[in-house]
Amino acid sequence: MSRKLIIGNWKMHGRLARNAELIDALRAGLAACEAEVGVAVPTAYLSQASHALAGSTIALSAQDASRFADDGAYTGETSANMLADLGVSYVLLGHSERRQYFQEDNAVLREKIEAVLKAGLKPVLCIGETLAEREAGEHLLVTEGQLEVLKALELGDECIVAYEPVWAIGTGKVASIEQVAQMHAHLKQKLLPIVGCSVNIRVLYGGSVKSDNASAILATPNVDGALVGGASLDAESFKKICQAAG
Ligand code: PGA
Repeated sequence: MSRKLIIGNWKMHGRLARNAELIDALRAGLAACEAEVGVAVPTAYLSQASHALAGSTIALSAQDASRFADDGAYTGETSANMLADLGVSYVLLGHSERRQYFQEDNAVLREKIEAVLKAGLKPVLCIGETLAEREAGEHLLVTEGQLEVLKALELGDECIVAYEPVWAIGTGKVASIEQVAQMHAHLKQKLLPIVGCSVNIRVLYGGSVKSDNASAILATPNVDGALVGGASLDAESFKKICQAAG
């Protein structure tokens, strides 16, 4: 079984001085951590974070990538090749905030995943249902549809999906252990025929993961790690979450 993967998603937060402090604290506190740890930093600070993390065990993650694989006349875009050049290992794709505010759908996500894979990086596909979809009993179907984007792709040795119920993101309303267990088992079962049995599948949980609920969530069957938003901006909380995965 592979190690648990914990990625802190800073979203659109950060300043040079604050980032430096946070990274220093994480480097010092997580040197002996058994989990694999990453930080998903805003594009503007990837270069800073890349230097600050040099030689550490903490992986650098981006929060998005351009759907255009090759460099060119795409003002404002950041290519996966540029991310690779900066030392990025993981790229979050399809976060619910990107789906909501930037209208990202399976078609665009497919192009982004392909670009990220072509650059030799690991996509972390974020999926999850809204509250209305959960209440209508459509959560299994909705997430299954979101997995379709992975069909017939050369994923390499690993496929990482983050299940983040939209109603649990930033709300403090965490999914129950039963809900997490059911969804993760379902996703693993659906992913297997899509990606094939030679690919290691990791399904992370995200949505109001905090230091006081991390142990229970991470001990749930089929939970291979966590995607942590708000709590990843506080060094002590994030360290505790990572240690709970060890
Ligand atoms: P949250 O965010 O931990 O603040 O709920 C999780 C995410 O959006 O990745």
